[in-house]
Formats: sequence, C-alpha cells, structure tokens
Amino acid sequence: MQTGKINVQTENIFPIIKKFLYSDHEIFLRELISNAVDATTKLKTLASMGKFQDDLGDTTIEVSIDSKKKTLTVKDHGIGMTADEVEKYINQIAFSGAEEFLKKYKGKTEVEQSGLIGHFGLGFYSSFMVADKVEIRTKTYKKGAGTKAVRWECDGSPEYKLEEIEKTDRGTEIVLHVSGDSKEFLEEYRILELLKKYCKFLPIPIRFGNEKTWEPSETEKDDKGEPKQVEVEKPRIINNTNPLWKQMPSGLTDEDYKKFYRELYPNTFEEPLFNIHLNVDYPFNLTGILFFPKVKRNYEIQRDKIQLYCNQVFVTDSVEGIVPDFLTLLHGVLDSPDIPLNVSRSYLQSDQNVKKISGHIMKKVADRLEEIFKNNREEFEKKWDDIKIFIEYGMISEPKFYERAEKFTLLKDTEGKYFTFEEYRKHIKATQTDKEKNLIYLYTTNIEEQHSFINAAKSRGYSVLVMDTPLDGHFINALEQKFEKSQFTRVDADVVDKLIKKEEQLPSKLTEDQQKELTTVFEGLVEKSKFHVVFESLSESDLPVLITQPEFMRRMKDMSAMGGGYDFMGSMPDNYNLVVNPNHRLVGRLAETSEEESRNKLAKQLIDLALLSQNLLKGSELTSFIQRSVDIIQ
Ligand code: ADP
Repeated sequence: MQTGKINVQTENIFPIIKKFLYSDHEIFLRELISNAVDATTKLKTLASMGKFQDDLGDTTIEVSIDSKKKTLTVKDHGIGMTADEVEKYINQIAFSGAEEFLKKYKGKTEVEQSGLIGHFGLGFYSSFMVADKVEIRTKTYKKGAGTKAVRWECDGSPEYKLEEIEKTDRGTEIVLHVSGDSKEFLEEYRILELLKKYCKFLPIPIRFGNEKTWEPSETEKDDKGEPKQVEVEKPRIINNTNPLWKQMPSGLTDEDYKKFYRELYPNTFEEPLFNIHLNVDYPFNLTGILFFPKVKRNYEIQRDKIQLYCNQVFVTDSVEGIVPDFLTLLHGVLDSPDIPLNVSRSYLQSDQNVKKISGHIMKKVADRLEEIFKNNREEFEKKWDDIKIFIEYGMISEPKFYERAEKFTLLKDTEGKYFTFEEYRKHIKATQTDKEKNLIYLYTTNIEEQHSFINAAKSRGYSVLVMDTPLDGHFINALEQKFEKSQFTRVDADVVDKLIKKEEQLPSKLTEDQQKELTTVFEGLVEKSKFHVVFESLSESDLPVLITQPEFMRRMKDMSAMGGGYDFMGSMPDNYNLVVNPNHRLVGRLAETSEEESRNKLAKQLIDLALLSQNLLKGSELTSFIQRSVDIIQ
C-alpha cells in the first residue's frame, strides 16, 4: 500500500469545495456518469480501430445505492485506469483542475459565483460535495506489467491511499460514502429523479436497479388462448441511447417526432404543430430538434422548455442568450459541444460563437416555415393562428427574421381568408387607396364589439383585417414602419366615409344653421368632456348617429394600458366623436321638430343606440334606454 499527499501546497480543500458549491450539489452525479460514459466511449472507439480486441461485453453503466453501508456507486466497464494513471489523472490533473476552479471562486461574490456554478467545471472532485470518503476501484483494459487493479481512497483530507486489489472485471467503480448532511442521495426516488434529469439521452445505457412491467407470458395462456400478461422484473434502463435528434432526418416520420415530443414532455398533452430538425457540423457543431408548440393565450409561462445538451448530457433548460428571445417560446432540444458552458450568462450573450449559433437557428426556423408555406399552404393556413405569435414576435424583435418572414407571413381578414403581404396589397389597392395615394389597412381588434363598423366597411367594399391578440398592436407599429405609404386604421376610428379619405364628399341635406342648432341639442344630452359632436355627410342608409374613437388617441391609451411609457395618458379621460349624419331621415326629422321634449327624446334615443353598438351603454343609462324604447314602441 502506498499513501501520499495530493498536493503539499494546499491545505484541506474539500471543505472549501463543499462550501463554495453549495447551490448545486446534485451535479456530482452528472459529472461521475459523464466520466463513466467517456471511459466507455473511449474503449468502444479503441475497439472499432482494432486496438482493443477482447470482447466488449455488456457496457451498461450501473448506478446503485447501499443504504446499510450508506454508499452510492457508479460502475462502468470502460477503459479503467492503471495505478500510474490514477496517480496522474486523479491526483494531479483532476486535482489541479479542482484547485484552479476554487481559485476562480474564492474572492468572488455570491452572485458572481452563482453565474458559474452548475455548469461543467469540477468533474470527479465534485463528489466531495456529498461524500466524506470516496473510493475508486479500477482495472485497466491494458495488459502486462503495472496493469493490476487498484483501489484509491481519500477521506477529504489531502492524504490519499492507493493499493492493489483483486478485481477481475475491466472498468471503474466510484464508491461514495455519502455524508450525513447529504442523505437525500441515498434515496431511490432522488437518484432516479436526477438520472432522469441529466442522463435521459446519454449514449451508453445506464441501469438503476430493476423495475416491474407487464409482458405477455411465453408459457401461460389466458381464457381466449392468448399469451397471459404476467408481471416481470427487468433491469431499469434510464436512458434512450439514440435520441431522435442524433438520427438522420431523412429516415424519420412525423409520428417519430410526435413520439419524441411526448418523451421530452411527458406531462404535455398537446401535440406540436411543426418540428425543425437541426443538423450542422460547420462552422460549429449543432444538432437538435425544435418544436412549435400549440400556444395558450398566456404565453409567458411557457418559456424555458428548450433543453440544452452537451454531447447528450443535459446542461440546462434556460436558454436565454443562446437562442433569440422569440424562439425561447419553442420547445425541443439543442445539443452542441461548442456552446461554452462554464461561463456566466453575460459572457455567453456576447460570445461570437453563440451569436453565430443563434443566427443559424433563426435562419433554419425561417427556412422551415417557408418550406411548409410553399409546399403546403393549406396546412400552413390551418396552423397560422397558433404560430403567428412566434412569427410576429420574431419580426418585431429581429430585423433579420423580418426579412425572411415577410414572404410567408399571413394576414387574416374578417371572412377568415389569408393573404401574404403582397397578395393583400393587391387585394385592397383599388378600393382602399386614399386621395394622397396612401394604402389604408383597416383592422378590427374585436369582431363582436366592432361588428357594426365592420359591416359598414364591408358595405363599401372594404376589407377588414383581424388583429386581436395582445401582440398585434406592436406588430401593426412594426408594419407601419416597414410598409411604404401605408397606414393602419381601426375600423371604428372614424365614420366609414372618412376611414379612407377620398375626393368626393356627399352634400349635406341640412343647412349650416340647422346643423348648429342640432349640435347644441346633442351637446346638451352628453358629457361634454368626453364627447365631441361633429356632423358628417354620410349616405342615407348609414346610421343616424355613430360613436368613433380617433386612431391616434386610442393607440396612446392602449399603449399606456400596456405600460408602454405613455403613462401621462393613463389619467386622461376617454375621448370619442359623436358623429351625426345629416342625411339620415331621422336626423332630418329632428331638425324639423321644434317641440323640445319629443326632440330631446328622439335625440337621446339615437345617442344611446350609438353607445350601445360600441358597448358603452351601462348601468342606469342602459335601464332608462330600455324603458324609453318600450315607451316608444307602445
Ligand atoms: P474531466 O472529466 O473533465 O477530464 P475529471 O476530474 O472528471 O475531469 O476526471 C479526471 C480524469 O480522470 C479524466 O480525464 C479521466 O482520465 C479519469 N477518469 C475519471 N473517471 C474515470 C472513469 N470512470 N474511468 C476512467 N477514467 C476516469
């Protein structure tokens, strides 16, 4: 037996490791299993090159708990280590890695540390976060002198023991004597949870005990003569060693992708809408599959569903800074050895490699959408309402994405028809160009509430777009900046004849004096600070009185409601136009009625009808309107 000091210059570093890595103790398991996977993969590579000619045997990695001995063991059948290699890799190299790691940590504030902790860095020595004593029992695949199996042991002091042992099978066993304050890592459910989190897609099978399943029996039959279902105990394999994103897209079906989605998100019942398979090896290495999920209205809470892997080892599921913000709404996996993991978030965001990767992902997403649009427009339209949030968000926030997406982004009208930007421009050009040659895009934010205005616009042959999501307001702003000589106007922003200002104006059937007189009548019946009475010569068949809300004022109000920095508008009352149509028969009758009571009654009735159609008639006003209507009908 040999004993020695790991490094004479350092005092006992293990308590320090423990202290500094308080936040993420659980990663020790990921580190140990990654090492076991590496050791196994190396041996397989040697075998494929003919440098290892024995039987590989079963290379499943085994994780086990002994609750009596209070140990947790990770056992592999990989290349193993000789005594010299233990000395070199564990005592020197891994140790100096650990030491360097600590130097980086000491002297930093907690916040700075937490940016780093949790990503790769410490490797084997992270096991001292949860163990009082760690043993390595290992036998190399090599043959000849100096290849006897050895046992290394260290109890957290700088001293270690190294001795030869009897071990016949090739590979390494790491035995952790779990410390009193880390007892959770002796619980089966806890280890299972960690294995599922970090190891679900590792390339070498990982076994953790057994599990019971039901299978058809080979000998027993049921009443119908079919093989009977019997309970069998089988090794519990944690991982899928050949995850879908590592396979060639050409060999995969839609069903494969859906199955994989369920594997990734066992608690989600919705099926994804589309998938995008990423497979790049130059100038960086990136594989993965992204899914467009079916979104609920409340999309904020759906973020952080993309899982990031480094060579099939789970790293994190918070990917901000790595993919463009709008894509964090997507689901799926990204796997890249080229994303630097042991660095802080702010570093990540400025890293050139990360920027390239992010740009590439964006391009791929655009490619895929364009492909579906071109090859299967019908399907694209069917799913449009669900995917539009991603696309609009992307177009608003990423100019590069806008350039790509403007070819396939759709606009939907109130008839449920879809148009590309180009198609829609052509569709409305003849009818909706105003006298200044501006193209006026009419839209509604609520088909039900703005129904009468939509109808009026349609009767003029206009088309009205549906822009009814919270994001649409921002999207409209973005489009107005991009589209030349174009303007968006909500369908109730003005009376129908003024929505798109053309040359011809209908003459008014009332004289100036009559209009003035009626203005006073109407003003006497409404709250003056809220309503501005105006006369507009509309056609006879248009409504006698209308309530409109000027576009500019309304947008300012909407923005202040969304906290867009226009807070001074919040305290302002709503402002409406009360538009009177002098060409309607009933307004004509009003002008001729001199008896005050019946004139006011009719005027009030017309105002209330207009308020009602804008959903503005409430409370006692509504009650007296109904009473008055009943009287009039009688
Ligand atoms: P890293 O894995 O980042 O190199 P570690 O501290 O985890 O750092 O491990 C140090 C070295 O110890 C590894 O590079 C490897 O050579 C050796 N090693 C660790 N675990 C095993 C194992 N299970 N089988 C064989 N060698 C191992």
